[in-house]
Amino acid sequence: FAATGSTRPLAFYDAATDPHRTERLSLMGELREALDHDRLVLHYQPKLALASRRVDGVEALVRWHHPRRGMVPPQDFIGMAEDTGNIQRLTRWALAAGIAQASRWHARGLELKVAVNLSARDLGEAELPLRIGRLLSIHGLPPGQLTVEITERAVIGEPETAMRVLKGLADLGVGIAVDDFGVGQSAFAYLRHLPVSELKIDQTFVRHLARDANDQTIVRSIVELGHRLGFQVTAEGVEDRGALEQLAAIGCDHAQGFFIARPLPAAELAGFSFERAGIA
Ligand code: C2E
Ligand code: MG
Ligand code: MG
Ligand code: MG
Repeated sequence: FAATGSTRPLAFYDAATDPHRTERLSLMGELREALDHDRLVLHYQPKLALASRRVDGVEALVRWHHPRRGMVPPQDFIGMAEDTGNIQRLTRWALAAGIAQASRWHARGLELKVAVNLSARDLGEAELPLRIGRLLSIHGLPPGQLTVEITERAVIGEPETAMRVLKGLADLGVGIAVDDFGVGQSAFAYLRHLPVSELKIDQTFVRHLARDANDQTIVRSIVELGHRLGFQVTAEGVEDRGALEQLAAIGCDHAQGFFIARPLPAAELAGFSFERAGIA
């Protein structure tokens, strides 16, 4: 620690007496092992295009079926993986798996765009565009069929490198979506100079959309803002028909949520009824 020249006092945190430390360490060890043995899977949640009422994309969401713990939700290990420096490996894995799957769908005539979540830390990795470009060409996937999802937090943390990485990705033709839009503490400033292509409205504004007039006002405003800036807008957390119809009336582009479909394993998605998803 001394070698880093840090003057930050370390006395507040005593690793040896942190009761969660052993548990965290073993969970991270197990995560590394799961990555080594390719034991993580991606599930894919359909995104419904509201104008055509067709599913034209999916969001890839990591799933960890732990032999002893059962299903470990991403919330229980993504944050920890970020803190312990394991997130880059997870992201690399997710990108490779998501791109490979999308190209298999394409080969079978199923044109689904795939969105992969990135962490704040990933945007500090200058070689990310190169790495993604290589994956796309290995799998023969057109760059426009990939979107990366970032949070507002990610761009605030490391503005310079993050900006360069995002520009690099945009230059490739990869889509860039701002996830959980509306709950970050950032102003709109970054929207002016980041190569964003999509806003994803946070679920908290969508869940009660059918009944809550304030949420309707907020969602309408975000859709209008997004469109005026030239972005696509997606609503997350659509849990009932009322919300879906509100979004269609407002002119939101895409809807995603349990009412349309839960995140599904790739095998189940292939048999998914894309026409019925329109919920005519
Ligand atoms: P997110 O990217 O905002 O993903 C949406 C989350 O909302 C997913 O939770 C999804 O299952 C859930 N969801 C979708 N529709 C509904 C709905 O109608 N109602 C409700 N209540 N929830 C809905 P999940 O899969 O547990 O993922 C949680 C978060 O973990 C994600 O939020 C994302 O931030 C992170 N995450 C998941 N996979 C990855 C990954 O591969 N890499 C990284 N860096 N983060 C990931
Ligand atoms: Mg997301
Ligand atoms: Mg989200
Ligand atoms: Mg989220």
